[in-house]
Amino acid sequence: MQSPLLIAQVVLDVPLPGPFDYLLTAPCEHRQDLRGRRVLVPWGKQTKIGLIWDTQTQTEQPVNKLKAILAVLDDIPALDTTWRALMSSVAAYYHKPLGEVALQALPVLLRRAEPYRRATGHPPASRSIKLLEKRVQKWLAQPSSPSPSLAKTLNSAQQAALAVVQGALAAGRFQCYLLHGITGSGKTEVYLQALAECLARGQQALLLVPEINLTPQLEATLQARFPQHPIALLHSGRSDGERAVAWLAACRGETALMVGTRLAVLTPCPNLGLIIVDEEHDPSYKQQEGVRYSARDVAILRAQQLGIPIVLGSATPALESWQHSQTGRYHALPLPERAIVAAQLPQIQLIDIRAGKLQHGLSQAALAALAENLTRQQTSLVFMNRRGFAPVLQCQQCGWVSQCRHCSAYSVFHKADGRLHCHHCGWQAIVPKHCPQCGNLDIIPLGYGTQRIEDFLRQHFPAARIIRIDADSTKGKVGAQPLLAQVHAGEADILIGTQMVAKGHDFKNLSLVVALNVDSALFAQDFRAPERLFAQLMQVAGRAGRDGLPSQMLIQTQYTDHPLFNALQQHDYPSFATQQLAERESAQLPPFAYQALFRAEAPNLSDAIAFLQALQQQLAQQALLRVYEPVPLNLVRVAGKERAQLLIEANQRPPLHLALKEALVYLASQKKSRVKWSLDIDPQEI
Ligand code: ADP
Ligand code: ZN
Ligand code: ZN
Repeated sequence: MQSPLLIAQVVLDVPLPGPFDYLLTAPCEHRQDLRGRRVLVPWGKQTKIGLIWDTQTQTEQPVNKLKAILAVLDDIPALDTTWRALMSSVAAYYHKPLGEVALQALPVLLRRAEPYRRATGHPPASRSIKLLEKRVQKWLAQPSSPSPSLAKTLNSAQQAALAVVQGALAAGRFQCYLLHGITGSGKTEVYLQALAECLARGQQALLLVPEINLTPQLEATLQARFPQHPIALLHSGRSDGERAVAWLAACRGETALMVGTRLAVLTPCPNLGLIIVDEEHDPSYKQQEGVRYSARDVAILRAQQLGIPIVLGSATPALESWQHSQTGRYHALPLPERAIVAAQLPQIQLIDIRAGKLQHGLSQAALAALAENLTRQQTSLVFMNRRGFAPVLQCQQCGWVSQCRHCSAYSVFHKADGRLHCHHCGWQAIVPKHCPQCGNLDIIPLGYGTQRIEDFLRQHFPAARIIRIDADSTKGKVGAQPLLAQVHAGEADILIGTQMVAKGHDFKNLSLVVALNVDSALFAQDFRAPERLFAQLMQVAGRAGRDGLPSQMLIQTQYTDHPLFNALQQHDYPSFATQQLAERESAQLPPFAYQALFRAEAPNLSDAIAFLQALQQQLAQQALLRVYEPVPLNLVRVAGKERAQLLIEANQRPPLHLALKEALVYLASQKKSRVKWSLDIDPQEI
């Protein structure tokens, strides 16, 4: 008698919904539970890596058409039910094929379909994965940190916060906490002690940090605090091999402490007890391509599914999170003071730039303050979010401006290499000797970037030691660390930097911050621009006065009466949040509404718009939805493609997601066109 069929439902990283049915043949069919196993399967003429999602004894396909699984790989543990449940939820929420979500969550090395060596009959474990095994063992056997550090005695606010989290850890129940306190209020110390508690219970803990915060400083702090635990570092800056090693150790429960950027949230952890999301408002938690997930939101979902506590921490929470902490959905844990008594908040002063002439972008007041700080031998930070020398070159005669050839954007003048750079597509060109339009030789830079400020400050303060830190000065493999190390070693009098220096650095002897070029965010089309500006300025302010020096921050602006600045001067995030939330509520914007954005790009804008208009008509039939007109993106042309977007809003999530589901069915039924589209749920940039 024939044994019953065994069918595996396999998910694959292909742009089709799946899962796909494959036959399981001897000897696999006798195995107990094959769910979550990596497999090799035939796909057309290729061999692909897949994951078994489920097994069944029936199929709706004609059995003789089914292909057999080539091999079940045993090189890593089966991915467990909780991880699979997480992947399913993420795929459903972001409306992405499950296979794409699940396979892309694996490290690159484990996504490769290794050649199947049928002839030898050996298990098809690949050479590279054997090698990996050795590396995992070697890494786990590393000697622990030589200089362990002790937990600090918490102040009463920290203690109260920790006690609440410990309670949830002991009870093993889901709760989302919002740990809110200015920079230096001791959030990190609370994280460390909560992590310690979780590890002491024999559970795994996951600490998520923004892209920019994963500094050697943090790594050293963690190593010193947890000398007996190897730390799995998971971020995109690591090599494929390093990532696979850390991932495997986490997945097998061999390491208890996982630290990483947004991608780390998808790591399988069989025994997870606590998640912490540092700087939870940070935009880098949102993936901006492929599966456009928010790592913070996925982390909350994960904690909920597992029934474990999660701590979100920030000095300037996302307004969504703040709103939840006000309504009681999240449990607020305030840290109202700086942890070190000596540490002082900087005094924030506004410099009205309408009042006097600027000298190379800098006001007299700012220059005087810098000069004074130099004589005091204290460090100053000049903060501006625009790199390059000047944002544009202009012909004095005919008004020609330097533009990117492929984008509807100016090309930025970089003096260092004498070239024009497009910051959107990477296009470069030599600076023309004369105006390409009228031949005039008088072409001048307009506006200021970090390089131009550096140039001027070097002339103005020839004796000062000046270090510039931005995406240009830190290009290459070594990145920002050598320059940052110089600053930490006290080798800078003036530090010029973009948002790269805003976070996570504990600079010594820094007592003056000058912020330039902040006004554009006040009136940007993107409704989140003020929120981001406030967060950035708070963060930059937090760099000053950490070691007890009286310190100040000067902000150059034309809008000295703007309520954002007034709240900032008081270091008063809650009042800023209250203002913003009132505006959001009356405009029916998030967190009082839910949004989704279809983006389309095509060689011609009209094609992209027409595509979105058809979609708009489909969606317009749905109830409880606000469907807007398709509009060109602000920066309409990038890299030769023209782009448009269609915004959809609803006051509740369910009708929005239902409508999106139907819209995607409609799109799947359409013929292939030249239009490339994507769907962004809870978009961060509009
Ligand atoms: P945050 O993460 O909120 O910016 P940190 O946890 O980094 O704050 O704390 C800021 C500084 O205060 C650090 O140097 C830290 O070591 C110190 N610190 C934090 N908590 C305490 C405490 N309870 N007692 C003494 N020092 C503390
Ligand atoms: Zn360009
Ligand atoms: Zn000209």
